[in-house]
Amino acid sequence: MVSQPTEKIVLRAFDQLDPPDPELVLDCIHCGFCLPTCPTYLVLGNEMDSPRGRLYLIRSASEGKIDLSDSFARHMDLCLLCRACETACPSGVQFGFLMEAARGQLKRRYQYPPVERWFRDLLLHTFTDLGRLRALTRLLCVYQRSGLQRLIRGWGLLRRLGRLGRMEALLPDLHDPRVSELPEITPAKGQRRGRVGLLLGCVQQFFFAHANAATARVLSENGYDVIAPRDQGCCGSLLIHEGERERGKALARRTIDCFEQANADHVVVNAAGCGSAMKEYWELLHTDPTYAARAKAFSQKVRDVSEFLAEAPLRGALQRLSLTVTCHDACHLAHGQRVREAPRAILKAIPGLRLVELQESDFCCGSAGIYNLLHPEPAQQLLDRKLERIKATGADLVVSGNPGCTLQIQKGLRERGLAIRVMHPIELLDASYRGDSRKT
Ligand code: SF4
Ligand code: SF4
Repeated sequence: MVSQPTEKIVLRAFDQLDPPDPELVLDCIHCGFCLPTCPTYLVLGNEMDSPRGRLYLIRSASEGKIDLSDSFARHMDLCLLCRACETACPSGVQFGFLMEAARGQLKRRYQYPPVERWFRDLLLHTFTDLGRLRALTRLLCVYQRSGLQRLIRGWGLLRRLGRLGRMEALLPDLHDPRVSELPEITPAKGQRRGRVGLLLGCVQQFFFAHANAATARVLSENGYDVIAPRDQGCCGSLLIHEGERERGKALARRTIDCFEQANADHVVVNAAGCGSAMKEYWELLHTDPTYAARAKAFSQKVRDVSEFLAEAPLRGALQRLSLTVTCHDACHLAHGQRVREAPRAILKAIPGLRLVELQESDFCCGSAGIYNLLHPEPAQQLLDRKLERIKATGADLVVSGNPGCTLQIQKGLRERGLAIRVMHPIELLDASYRGDSRKT
């Protein structure tokens, strides 16, 4: 009897819940143009830590040729998701979507060592729960004001505290969040141009409340009513970045609900990572029958604050700031949102300000969400590279449109004893409107 050929059973590494789209992987033509722009390839020197190598692994996993092994997880997790490879790619590979989906599979199905999982979950649960982050910020204020921080840093104890020490080293000077809360409505000054919603963010809201206050003042000065809804939460970007897709989707839906109620013409964001994720809610929720169309409409309304202000001439009188400034391009602004000129346009509008270009301005500083806490060695190498280039500009001040980058660069400058300040570009514009050179 002739036996019938049996169909080969392919066991795929990915299941059917949000797998990386196999069609998108096929866009890669293996040209390698992305390799010199990939920070992890430059630092680690391994093809599998390059965009092309990672795409090869994702494709192999999709086709059932490899499993979700330790090695697969490591190469995926070592990616910064900086998306410099997307900017370099002549074939339009949508690397960010593929990596986020691959991480989503890993986070649900790969067995991370318990301590790693616990630490990652602790960070994610703290940063994405605004109630917890508010309480933590108050505690940290007490820690700073009591003088304990000065003692611990002065005695060089941070190096002995491992991960806790690395987190502490990132802390900026904090203010009690109860004092710096923004009003829900900041009315437009002069002739009204429109009504915008303002995302307050997580780190931005509690660690850099002054950047949010400056954003509201500048938008108001330019004729916009600014609505900062009280019931807004975390936008979910950190969770999406880390592959916690279902929790990220829940926060995305909540953010859409909240800003729909605010009835704003646009949703303005001053944190590049958040803005990038919110502009891509349409992709995250494209299979959700209730939210797909709403997410698409919402994403079209999202603007980075510098991008938004660059769409119309600035109003009001700007006063002189005698400063030399350089611009760090946050990955999720330059690569994720393709916004590069707008922050520079803001800076160039300020009388007396001299803008000097930063070499490799759009090269990742190593912050990348919680990457600097999960992978401190490559993150430190990237930070060192960034600091060398900042120092070479001779600037008094570096601007950054993302709070994670600001924390990371501030930490590096402080540790090197460099008296260069880091601010959001909108804070400089605000200082110029107010004629307040002391703020800089
Ligand atoms: S996202 Fe960044 S780190 Fe990841 S592969 Fe692309 S360039 Fe490299
Ligand atoms: S540049 Fe684009 S097409 Fe070329 S190897 Fe990189 S991801 Fe693939």
